[in-house]
Amino acid sequence: MIERARFAPSPTGPLHIGGVRTALFNYLIAKKSGGKFILRIEDTDSKRTVAGAEDHIKDSLKWLGLNIDEGPIKQSERKVLYKKQVEKLLRRGLAYYAFDTSAELERARKESNGEFKYNHETRRKMINSFTVSEEEARSRIKRNGYVIRMVVPEKETILVNDEIRGSLSFNSREIEDKVIMKSDGMPTYHFANVVDDHDMKITSVVRGEEWLSSLPSHVTLYNYFGWSPPKFYHLPLILKSTGQGKLSKRDAEEQGHPIFAVQWEESKGFKESGYTPEGILNYLALLGWKGKGDDEKYSLNDLVKKFDSKDINKSGARFDIKKAVWINHLHLRDFSSKKILSLCGQANTLLEKNYSSDVCEEIIDLIKERLNTLFDVEKEVLVFVGQPKNYDKEVIEKITRNTIYNVLNFCKLNEELISEPTLLKESLMSFGSEKQISFGNIMKTLRLCMVGSLSGPDLFKIIDIIGPEETLHRIDSLINKI
Ligand code: GLU
Repeated sequence: MIERARFAPSPTGPLHIGGVRTALFNYLIAKKSGGKFILRIEDTDSKRTVAGAEDHIKDSLKWLGLNIDEGPIKQSERKVLYKKQVEKLLRRGLAYYAFDTSAELERARKESNGEFKYNHETRRKMINSFTVSEEEARSRIKRNGYVIRMVVPEKETILVNDEIRGSLSFNSREIEDKVIMKSDGMPTYHFANVVDDHDMKITSVVRGEEWLSSLPSHVTLYNYFGWSPPKFYHLPLILKSTGQGKLSKRDAEEQGHPIFAVQWEESKGFKESGYTPEGILNYLALLGWKGKGDDEKYSLNDLVKKFDSKDINKSGARFDIKKAVWINHLHLRDFSSKKILSLCGQANTLLEKNYSSDVCEEIIDLIKERLNTLFDVEKEVLVFVGQPKNYDKEVIEKITRNTIYNVLNFCKLNEELISEPTLLKESLMSFGSEKQISFGNIMKTLRLCMVGSLSGPDLFKIIDIIGPEETLHRIDSLINKI
């Protein structure tokens, strides 16, 4: 079946990583079938709409490469459609006007110790088109003091099916006569959602688990209209890394990682923190889904091929930033050096000042294995563009100053070998056995001298790239400092 899946965020705030995961699963379900990925902006609640949120949603999808095939379709521009549909329900007695003020609703809530539900029982005691005269109803409607509620049947079992959780049954007593339209003519989420999914010929509704409890109301509306419902997928929650509950912005801040794909106000996104869209999408796919084999690295195309909605989990997925970093690393490691250079302007400029483009690429090839985020590029290329700023004191103590001096002095005396790293290595080995200096300490000395610590890429490749003059310069510097 060729699927039409929609991502339907409300622009009530920035798009966080949970929303991105929903977008991704919609995308995968659509694309797997050769279908369409559609963006619908659910902006019917103008009071909660946040300026810039819609752009943030679009910018996030764009950076991630989740290209939309249709849309954005904005619900605020479709009032006529909702009005037409709500009138059908009103005519058939499946929806009604309710006139209760907020104070009246509040009183009802208090009287029932917070248990109040607007339903077949209570609606008889409230102020609505069932309880007031036709004339009074007309005049209240004219004054705009109303909402429209859907009728929920009194005693019925509502059966719904979720592709992840199977079939579920709800007792209609548990369900409220939800408000479906407000007096400004704007539908609520529940109504607009159902009308649009039908109108837009949506075949798969993929959304967060928190919407599962609304499903019986939605299914009731489908039944009232005589429309066949789409397939529903309620995705498992994304849990915070430790403890109970959903991952929130606060948890992310506490753990020191982003929560948005791209920057929102002061909060840097994964983009601005050096992550790649490939890594983020791959990691998010694993939050709630697992492929058949042991593979963990997937490109978006691989995901489209391998994704099977049957493998989506029911249980919550714990967010683990270390794993996200690891997956990002797997992607960076496989990027071409050209691509990495194009993604990190600063490091690229540094390298270009010193080396030809071929050598720049060679350097990136050497450090790729060491990259977790794009920020690491700048750190890793420093060794190729300047002397170490500091030397690790602990390492100096361990090797001993005397040994360091002897090794460096030997190199200085044999400076013609520096341009021949293999020969240099061999003669250092014989020098070591003659002077009883372990080869380990010789290598550590040279690394300390070139890098300032014991980390960094292949030592002899560093020497080869920075060249004999710079190598000697670094040897002199360390000799002078110990
Ligand atoms: N507007 C809802 C949200 O913000 C969409 C839920 C759905 O996909 O039906 O999550």
